[in-house]
Amino acid sequence: MTSPVRTRTKPDNSPRNWNALTVSECFRKLFGTQKLLVATHREPVIYQPPQNESPKRKDQPKLRYPAGGVSQSLHRLLLQTGGDWISLQNSPGPPTLSISLPGFPATYILYRLSPRDPALEEGYQRFSNDLLWPLFHEEPGRVGARPGDFKGYEAVNRLFAEHIFRVVKNHGNGVLWIHDYQLSLVAKELRPLVSSPLPPIAFFWHIPWPRQEFLVHLPERRALLEGLLDYDFLGFQTALYRERFLESVEREFGEDPRISVFADCVVKGNRRIHVGDYPIGVDPGRFESLSLDQKGQDEARSLLCELGIAPEEVLLISVDRMDYTKGFLKRLQILESLFLANPGRVGKIRLLQIAPLTRSGHPTYQSYQKKVREAVSNFNERWKTGTWFPVVSVERTVEHRILAPLYRMAAGALVTSTNDGMNLVAKEYLAAQKDEGGTLFLSRYTGAAQGLKEAVLIDPFDPATSAAIIDRYLAEPASIRKGRNKILREQISRNNIFLWMGSILTGIREAETKGN
Ligand code: UDP
Repeated sequence: MTSPVRTRTKPDNSPRNWNALTVSECFRKLFGTQKLLVATHREPVIYQPPQNESPKRKDQPKLRYPAGGVSQSLHRLLLQTGGDWISLQNSPGPPTLSISLPGFPATYILYRLSPRDPALEEGYQRFSNDLLWPLFHEEPGRVGARPGDFKGYEAVNRLFAEHIFRVVKNHGNGVLWIHDYQLSLVAKELRPLVSSPLPPIAFFWHIPWPRQEFLVHLPERRALLEGLLDYDFLGFQTALYRERFLESVEREFGEDPRISVFADCVVKGNRRIHVGDYPIGVDPGRFESLSLDQKGQDEARSLLCELGIAPEEVLLISVDRMDYTKGFLKRLQILESLFLANPGRVGKIRLLQIAPLTRSGHPTYQSYQKKVREAVSNFNERWKTGTWFPVVSVERTVEHRILAPLYRMAAGALVTSTNDGMNLVAKEYLAAQKDEGGTLFLSRYTGAAQGLKEAVLIDPFDPATSAAIIDRYLAEPASIRKGRNKILREQISRNNIFLWMGSILTGIREAETKGN
C-alpha cells in the first residue's frame, strides 16, 4: 500500500469554448460511430399521455422536461450522437420511447425499467434516500433506512445491469456512463454477465463525498466502495470530494495488498481505476439569452404581480427543491439577523423563495416541509408591516424561461445549503447577470464555492456574520458588483456543462489507453 502525496495535473481547462457542437464532435472523434449509453435513476423526460383517446381526434403524447441542467445536457448530447438511455420509469407510457426533437440529427432510445418486486424497490429507494442521501450530506440524524434495504439496492442495480447487458449486446455501445449514488453497483453487477471485453464503464458521483467520520455510519461502506472500484472511471464534483474518496479507499482497504491509491487513480490487482474531479457547469449562453428574452420577462413580471410583488421592489431570490440540505431554516435565521441588525431594511427587501416540493410522499420530507412552512409563516407574522411581509414562497417548479428573468431582476441570490455537491442555481444566477450587478451570496458548503473563489461566501451556520456580509455587499457600488460578476461570469463561461462532458469523455478514453 503506497501513500503518496496526492497532487495531480488538472484536466485541460484551456479557454477553448466548449459548446453543444464541440462536445458531439469530440464524442465522434473519440468513439467513432459507436453509441453512448447513459443510465440514471430518473428519466430525462416526463411522458404525458394523449388527452383525447377518441379514434377521430387522436392527440400525440407529449414529452415534458424535468428541472435539472445535467440530464437536459446529456439528453441534448444523445440527440446529437444517438444512443441509449436507461432509467426507472417515473411517468406513464410504454416501456420504451424513441426520443427525437426537431433540429437535432439523431434519435435515442429510452428504456424505462420497472422493478417487479415492490418490496425490493422500496428497499432500494430507502437505502438511496434514507441512508446514502443523508449520510453523504453528513446528516446522520436523518438516517431512516431499515436492515435488509441493501438487498433491494443490489437488486435494482442488478436490474439496470441486466438491461444494459442486453442493450450493449445489440448495439455494441462504445462507452457506458452511469450516474449517481443510486447506481453505484451497476458495474459490479454487470461484469459477471459478460464474457467478452466490455466498453469503458464510467461513473459520476453527483453528491458530496463525506468525511470518513460520517462514512463509518454506513454498514455497507466496503461493499459500496468495492462496487465503485468495479468502474473504470470515477468522476467527482470537486477535488475535495475526490480526495475524501481516495482517503476512504485507503482507510477501508489499507491492509489489502491488491489495492494501491494514487493521486488520480486506484490500482486494484491488474485494473486501474481513474479517479478525477470534474465540476459540473451550466449552459451560460442559454441562461443569458433566456434572461433577456422579452416574453420570458413579461411572464416573470406577471408572476411577481400575481405574488403581490411590485416591479421596483428590491428582491433576494432563492431557488431550491424543499430538501433539508438546502438550509431553509438557516436562511430565515440569516434574514432575522439582517432585520435585527438593520431595522431600516424591514419593508425594503424581500425574499422570493422558489421552493418546489420534493419527495413529498416521504415522512422525513413531509415533516421538514411542514416545519419550513410554519417557520416562514411565523417569520412573516413577526416582521410584517401593514400589507408587506418579508418572505414570498412558491412551492412549485418555475421553468427556466421565467426563472432566468427573475434571476436578472433580483438584487441578490441567497444560496444557504448546509452541504451541496455543486449547486447549479448559483451558476445560473451569475449567467443571468449580463451587465447587471446582482450579488451571489453563496454558502461555503457548496461544491460551487470550491471553484468560484471570488464569490461572496456566507456561512449558514453563522447567521449573524452572514447577515452582516449581505448587508455590506448589497450596499456596494454597482461598478464593484459588476466587476466581480465579470470575473465570476468568465469562470462559469469557461467551465460550462460542455467542458464537463467533453473532459469526461476525453478522460474516459485516456484512462482506457493508460489502463491497457
Ligand atoms: N429548478 C428549476 N425550477 C425550479 C427549481 C429548480 O428549473 O423551480 C432547476 C434549477 O434551475 C437547477 C436545478 O433545478 O437547474 C437544481 O439544481 P441544483 O444543482 O441547484 O440543486 P439540486 O436540486 O440538483 O440539488
